[in-house]
Amino acid sequence: MPQHNVLDLLADMASGAKSIVDGMRITLHSLVFHEKVTDQYPHRNPDDNYQPGPGYRGMLGLITDPETGQLNCTACGQCQKVCPDNCIAVEGEGKGKERKPVRFTIDMAKCMYCGLCAEVCPFDALTMTPKYTGSVERIEDLIWDLDRLRAEAEGMPHISQVE
Ligand code: SF4
Ligand code: SF4
Repeated sequence: MPQHNVLDLLADMASGAKSIVDGMRITLHSLVFHEKVTDQYPHRNPDDNYQPGPGYRGMLGLITDPETGQLNCTACGQCQKVCPDNCIAVEGEGKGKERKPVRFTIDMAKCMYCGLCAEVCPFDALTMTPKYTGSVERIEDLIWDLDRLRAEAEGMPHISQVE
């Protein structure tokens, strides 16, 4: 091997070793002197008082009319049609103003929180809430039915209230 190639190789090795030492120095400095900024989520919540900012698009919920106690949803199916991830399934019964959903599911495991379903809804029936934690042990538990979706929206600000 020509001498200049050997010198290049040694220079590369020295440079590589210096990079490793520099990296380890920074890592050790952070470990010893910096305050920890991570948490063992979901086993420990980062901050019990944490609230996402206004307009945050979190988990979905179905809105109940406070006067009638009925869901605003008329099972028109527009949210189902617009959802790019095919998460929503709606079945309704009745005609005109009497039409109501008898089955409404959203697969939150597939949802990408785009908000199109809530935006397209003509009856202010579907909203995204500030709820940001949704981890579960079994993925099937992320298929939310009508009762679950109704409960999720209760007491939560709706998208239309925070924009
Ligand atoms: S937020 Fe987007 S992906 Fe999620 S259910 Fe609505 S339309 Fe589908
Ligand atoms: S949530 Fe809105 S868009 Fe979806 S079926 Fe009900 S009324 Fe229609």
